[in-house]
Amino acid sequence: MKLSARRDGDQYVLNGEKTSISFSSSASTALMMARTGTPESGAHGVSAFYVDLNSPGVSRTRFRDLGSRAIGRGSLFFDSVKVPVSARIGAEGAGFVQVMQGFDFSRALIGLMCIGAAQQSVDETCRFVAEREAFGGSLARFEGVSFPLAEAAVELRAARLLCYEALWLRDRGMPHGWLAAGAKWLAPELCARVLHQCLLLHGHTGFSLDLPHQQRMRDVIGLEIGDGTAQIMKLLVAREIIGKSARPY
Ligand SMILES: Cc1cc2nc3c(=O)[nH]c(=O)nc-3n(C[C@H](O)[C@H](O)[C@H](O)COP(=O)(O)OP(=O)(O)OC[C@H]3O[C@@H](n4cnc5c(N)ncnc54)[C@H](O)[C@@H]3O)c2cc1C
Repeated sequence: MKLSARRDGDQYVLNGEKTSISFSSSASTALMMARTGTPESGAHGVSAFYVDLNSPGVSRTRFRDLGSRAIGRGSLFFDSVKVPVSARIGAEGAGFVQVMQGFDFSRALIGLMCIGAAQQSVDETCRFVAEREAFGGSLARFEGVSFPLAEAAVELRAARLLCYEALWLRDRGMPHGWLAAGAKWLAPELCARVLHQCLLLHGHTGFSLDLPHQQRMRDVIGLEIGDGTAQIMKLLVAREIIGKSARPY
C-alpha cells in the first residue's frame, strides 16, 4: 500500500495514489485505507479515513473500462491532502482488519449482483427460445437449446443459496468468511458463463449492442476481478478447510 497518512497535530496529511477505485470520478467522499505505520508493521500499520474528495490536493483520472460504465473506475491522487483526526474511522492501525470484515459481507453481495444479472438473461432467453421458430417449430424443443438453460437455472439457484447461507451466518455472528469467498468465486464465474450462453442462444441478435446480455456479461467480468479474483478466493477457502499449511506466504 503506497498511500501514506502522516499525523501532524490534529490532522493527518495524505500522500500517494489509490488506483482501480469504483465511483472515483463521481464520488464526493471516499473510505480510504492509508499506511500510518511503517511498511514492516504490515496489516497493523493501516488506518481507515473518511475523506472529502473535493479537498485541495485531490485529483482524479477515469479508466476506459469494458463494463460497469455507469459506476466508472479510475485513480485518485493525493498530494499533501489534509484530513482532521476526527475523519479517522476506528483506532489507528485497525483499518485493515475493519476492511477485511467488510469483504466477508460485500463478497456475498457481489455474488448476488451477478446472479441477478444472469437470472434476468436466463428468463429472457427462456421466453426467446420458446417464441423463436426455426426448422418448423420452437427452438426450445432442441435439447441443445433447452439443456443449457435448465443447467443455468439450477446452478444459479445453488449459487444463490450459497450467498444466502453466508449472509445468514453473518447475521447470526457465525463464521462465514470462507463461504463468502466461495460465493465471490463461484457466482461471477458461473454468471459470466451463463450470460455468454444466453447471448449465443439469441443467435445473431445476441451479438448486437441493442440486447442487454453483452452489457451484463461485461459488467460481471469486472466483478470477477473486483473485491478479489477467483484465485485469491480459492486461497482463502483452502486456508480455512486445510489450515495454516495451505498459506503460500
Ligand atoms: C470493476 C472493478 C472495480 C474495482 N473497484 C475497486 C475499488 O472500488 N476499490 C479498490 O480498492 N479496488 C477496486 N478494484 C481493484 C480490485 O480489487 C483488484 O484489481 C483485484 O483485487 C486484483 O488485484 P490486482 O489487479 O492487483 O491483480 P494482481 O494481484 O496483479 O493479479 C493478477 C492476476 O494474478 C492472479 N494472482 C495474483 N496473486 C495470486 C496468487 N497468490 N495465487 C494465484 N493467482 C494470483 C490474480 O488472480 C489475477 O488473475 C476494482 C477492480 C475492478 C476490475
